[in-house]
Amino acid sequence: MSRAGPAAQTQVGAPSLDAGAQSLAAIADGLSRLDHEALRRQRRVLESPQGARVRVDGRDYVAFCSNDYLGLAAHPELIEAAREGAARYGVGAGASHLVLGHAAAHQALEERLAAFVGLPRALLFSSGYLANLGIVTALAGRDDAVFADRLNHASLNDAVLLSRATFRRYPHLDLDALERLLAASRARRKLIVSDAVFSMDGDITPVPGLISLAERYDAWLVLDDAHGFGVLGPEGRGTLAHFNARSPRVIVMATLGKAAGVFGAFAAGEPEPIEWLVQRARSYIYTTATPPLLSVALLKSLELIERETWRRTRLQELIAVLRGRLQLRRWRLAPSTTAIQPLVIGANDEAVDVSERLGREGLLVPAIRPPTVPQGTARLRISLTAAHQTGDVERLAGALNALQ
Ligand code: PMP
Repeated sequence: MSRAGPAAQTQVGAPSLDAGAQSLAAIADGLSRLDHEALRRQRRVLESPQGARVRVDGRDYVAFCSNDYLGLAAHPELIEAAREGAARYGVGAGASHLVLGHAAAHQALEERLAAFVGLPRALLFSSGYLANLGIVTALAGRDDAVFADRLNHASLNDAVLLSRATFRRYPHLDLDALERLLAASRARRKLIVSDAVFSMDGDITPVPGLISLAERYDAWLVLDDAHGFGVLGPEGRGTLAHFNARSPRVIVMATLGKAAGVFGAFAAGEPEPIEWLVQRARSYIYTTATPPLLSVALLKSLELIERETWRRTRLQELIAVLRGRLQLRRWRLAPSTTAIQPLVIGANDEAVDVSERLGREGLLVPAIRPPTVPQGTARLRISLTAAHQTGDVERLAGALNALQ
């Protein structure tokens, strides 16, 4: 979930190890600075399947922090499909796609995904992080320039650093600023990269505007639809479909471990750039394929995403309930229409305190702090899923109203 990265504006001022210090003492010192600034992250141990109701560290909670937006991660039909996949293919893929890891289920899923998002070809990656690394480094190199929204996900930022292309970041959603950067660039090849739905803000990038800039300035546009795929657009076909937008310059990346409820990711676009990824994306070539049983489960998941439109309707209803019920005085609810509803609190320690108080009431909403988000904007990233009940969301709103 984090979008931190060495080049992230959000990283400025965040604690890091002293340059050159390698001793245990330096690391211990770094850790205690994290404690001091309320920035040390703690893992919780999930003892149940993913869902609206979870058991964590021996306690039951209603969780508002998963990306399982449609409530599919523990769906019985997906579990059954995974079982059938294991019976047919075994558990491990055993090799990378270009060696002997590309199973018939992977192939069928790629074809199904391309048809689902309405693009000519799709290519599976083992995770969204790896997909972004592979796409950006295959399309941009030393003499090229990448233009990136300042609030992009960490994996896109890391990808640009790895590509060694010139890294130009524009203020969040500011297409005028992006155009100025594009107009001034003398780079051999240009790549615009943006989250489609921003992971910590829930807002949607203006895709038609990005496409027209890509066309005007002869650039590629990489859209990271991790949080739009399955949720936005007719039948959940994603953010491109939401805008009814199309262009041969677009490469869409979407993850399969969020709304789709399973694991993995894919890139989709015109046949030539996708074939280029097969030949050149190092994070595609040099890693083991995902277990084929996951592709079998994902084929089932796509069927449910397409067919069960009530899940998206339900999500919209819950978003309206939350936004309607919250009565905020000091905090600010970000202007989001998606399942990601960030409640911006500001100070790190206050965000942690609110999260802990909610936890005592059986409501799980972790505090998101820098460097995942910019300094001074620590927040509760409330995420809703079709598996929540109206009463769950009313409970959360009531608890937050009482805490201010
Ligand atoms: N892009 C965005 C916008 C994300 O939020 C995430 C995951 N949090 C990723 C990419 C990485 O996807 P994955 O978890 O499949 O590696």
